[in-house]
Amino acid sequence: MAQFAVIGLGRFGSAASLELMKMGHSVLGVDINSKVVDKYADQLTRAVIADVTDKAAVDELGLDNYDVVLIAIGDDIQASLVCVVHLKAVNVNKIWVKAISHAQHLILSKLGVDRIIHPEEEMGIRVAQMLSYPMVNDYISLGNGEFVVEITASERLDDISIGEVLRTNNDVVEVLLIKRKSQILVRPADDFILQAKDILVLFGPLNILRTIAPKLI
Ligand code: ADP
Repeated sequence: MAQFAVIGLGRFGSAASLELMKMGHSVLGVDINSKVVDKYADQLTRAVIADVTDKAAVDELGLDNYDVVLIAIGDDIQASLVCVVHLKAVNVNKIWVKAISHAQHLILSKLGVDRIIHPEEEMGIRVAQMLSYPMVNDYISLGNGEFVVEITASERLDDISIGEVLRTNNDVVEVLLIKRKSQILVRPADDFILQAKDILVLFGPLNILRTIAPKLI
């Protein structure tokens, strides 16, 4: 269990906070607006009214005790940047910031935050990738063109071995695991017989995964 603080409980900050709570973490929510704080007070570990542009108010929050502070202030770029400066002064472990403009990104990277998030752009890219590969349930990009993807096997693959599907042209794709109902089978061998609706978690280069994905559906 990790300790998170989320500053700004708008749509983005509240969604992130509630999801972290669901995952069993501890979340401090901070907002300048008392109505917003009241709304989430019962659902978060702690919820506090504070203006994070005020250095004394930030110091009182004790944010250096948290693993990550996520600044999720929406349109007020100035408030978000001033908050970063205050957090840097109290040596917060990790600072993640939601950014809405190129200029803000530039200043944040100069200030040296740990992660800058552009929700609209990142979600747009994800939606485009899901639209063009509807068979892919989910994926993680590992950088350098390598991906982990989750694909559900179609009826067509019932009773066929992994080798027959995946080992046709020296493909360098690894089957990390197969989920079958509540069972998880780690690193199945090539002679493992698939069933329809098995969920395959594959690792490999994107260009190879692109050629393999259509064989699985
Ligand atoms: P979203 O697009 O995620 O809904 P909003 O701009 O609506 O973003 O929400 C940002 C939240 O940040 C609001 O609830 C707002 O009250 C809060 N906020 C704005 N400025 C400050 C500040 N200086 N200190 C603390 N919270 C702030």
